Amino acid sequence: MGIKYLWPILSPFCERKPLYELQYKRVAVDLSCWVCESQNIAEYTVQPRMYLRNLYFRTCYLLLMDVHVVFVLEGRAPELKYKTIAARNAVQFKGAKPKTDRVKVGKDRSRFNHTLKQCEEMLKLMGIACVKGEGEAEALCAYLNEDGLVDGIISQDSDCFAYGARVVYRNFSISQQGNHAAKGGSVDVYDIAKANESLDFGRNKIIALALLCGSDYCDGVHGIGKESVVKLFNVVSEDEILKRLRSWKDRASYYGKLEAKIGDKSLCTLCGHSGRAQGHTKKGCLECGTSQGCDSGKFENERLEIKNELNMRSKALADPSFPDEELVNEFLVKKSNVSELNLEWTKPDLINFVKFTVKYLTWEEIYSFEKFFPILTRWQLLHQDQIKDETQGIVTPKFIKKRRNPKGIASYEVVWEDKNNQFKGLIPEEQLAEFGDVEKLWSTVEPQNLVENAYPVLVEEFEDSKKPKNRKKKKNPVDEIDNLLKNVSITGPSKSKKSKKLHTLDDFVVKASTPKKVVQNCSFCLDQSNFGDENDLDVSDIVDKIIDKKVPPYVPENLGKLGLKLTDEECNIDCSFFVDEMVENDLFEKTFREYCISSGEFDSDENTAVTNK
Ligand SMILES: [Zn+2]
Ligand SMILES: [Zn+2]
Repeated sequence: MGIKYLWPILSPFCERKPLYELQYKRVAVDLSCWVCESQNIAEYTVQPRMYLRNLYFRTCYLLLMDVHVVFVLEGRAPELKYKTIAARNAVQFKGAKPKTDRVKVGKDRSRFNHTLKQCEEMLKLMGIACVKGEGEAEALCAYLNEDGLVDGIISQDSDCFAYGARVVYRNFSISQQGNHAAKGGSVDVYDIAKANESLDFGRNKIIALALLCGSDYCDGVHGIGKESVVKLFNVVSEDEILKRLRSWKDRASYYGKLEAKIGDKSLCTLCGHSGRAQGHTKKGCLECGTSQGCDSGKFENERLEIKNELNMRSKALADPSFPDEELVNEFLVKKSNVSELNLEWTKPDLINFVKFTVKYLTWEEIYSFEKFFPILTRWQLLHQDQIKDETQGIVTPKFIKKRRNPKGIASYEVVWEDKNNQFKGLIPEEQLAEFGDVEKLWSTVEPQNLVENAYPVLVEEFEDSKKPKNRKKKKNPVDEIDNLLKNVSITGPSKSKKSKKLHTLDDFVVKASTPKKVVQNCSFCLDQSNFGDENDLDVSDIVDKIIDKKVPPYVPENLGKLGLKLTDEECNIDCSFFVDEMVENDLFEKTFREYCISSGEFDSDENTAVTNK
């Protein structure tokens, strides 16, 4: 659950953003968070070990988007947590264990650990760094973030902030959601600096919130709600708050005086001067210098603030150990040294990954190969310096087949080969025979800049071969594309019964354009998915041609005629997002929602499904 009320307090500073927000960033993922989510789906018949499958596709998604990802595993749960859980269970559940608690005990805990071990094994086969600290995963995530080793943390647990996290990405989703402009997934971005700037709300207040309202480690003070805490935070600064809570016990006489002051019946509750509020309202106050009413700004609010604090104080001090310094230390004392951790992405192990997924996910070898191969080639492109003299587990680029433009990213389709026959026999012959197109199996689509960096000679050869040998008379590009359209059969989405054949370029551009948002020379704005099949090669070729040749109808002055508008905004907002087609939907997201709704496990307080913690 994390720290009570923290998400609602931070919600004004949260932004739901498309996942490309994470591109080129370094991100730490709290592994058990993801696994817990998947585990909630008790019986999923399509896929055994859903958690592995989802973990794989989510991680792929991040890798192919050029996110540097690191996984953080649970160390030992702090003693404090066990104590709290045990005490809480004894009281609230009469010894029975609560269903939605993250700290699991006995058999449950060991099964969960076993699950995490499998996840770790798979991530290591992908070459992903898995690090473990002394204590909780959220703590290590936060240290990495605080020390600038990662830009943010993917977690559902608000404890991260108490441990020093700066940016937390919550409700991570790789599925297309609602009518969000961006293709692909989205994430809630919480940036604590924003809350700090406008509310003077930071780590100390977060810890104070845990002390007062409760967290995984403590139940908080009975009877203190969000409203009164927020009121207190409004009058005490971030730097002072912990000192202030400690002063509740230490400065008894000071609070005694305050109590006397607001309880003093001889003082006006509005201005604090001698006299009664009723009297001042009618006849004025001598000290305020008024003949009717008094200066209520002087005392009225202050009195309410004091009352609020005194009220909280007396509730808090009912527990003689308040404030729990052990809890404050748990959050403030760093337990792991992160500078020694190796966070590099190391070489993915194709052979053992295929074996692993055959065993644990019951995938066919060829399916596993298809899904994993782009991870290996992407790693190679990014780590040329490390594989200069190495051949083991590495593939060789054979040639560039063609230019591609997935989601507006200039890319090459590269065909690879297994020069040393290392992967021979990995995929059974009958699967290969059924698959047919072996070249396709060995092809990946990679961003042009990466291919240029890694294999400049290959790119040169390809670009040379594309140069026209002897210039023929220039054809009219519009006619050329109209001809293309005549020869291929492109219709609307297959679902639509009325789909009619598109005969002209105008028809095509109208169909391909995302309403209202058209930017010149942008293949994202010409959206292939409007034709039903995003991977239709005929459509892709025509889009490429239109962009390449800057075909006349597709320039601003002609867009009006087609009923389309050029937007002012820069198009690269959507276009900078690259996702390879191999990434599959996150089955978990759909089923998990259904599961939550059907089981009534919906936390209305935070307006999100309760996760298993
Ligand atoms: Zn008065
Ligand atoms: Zn007065």
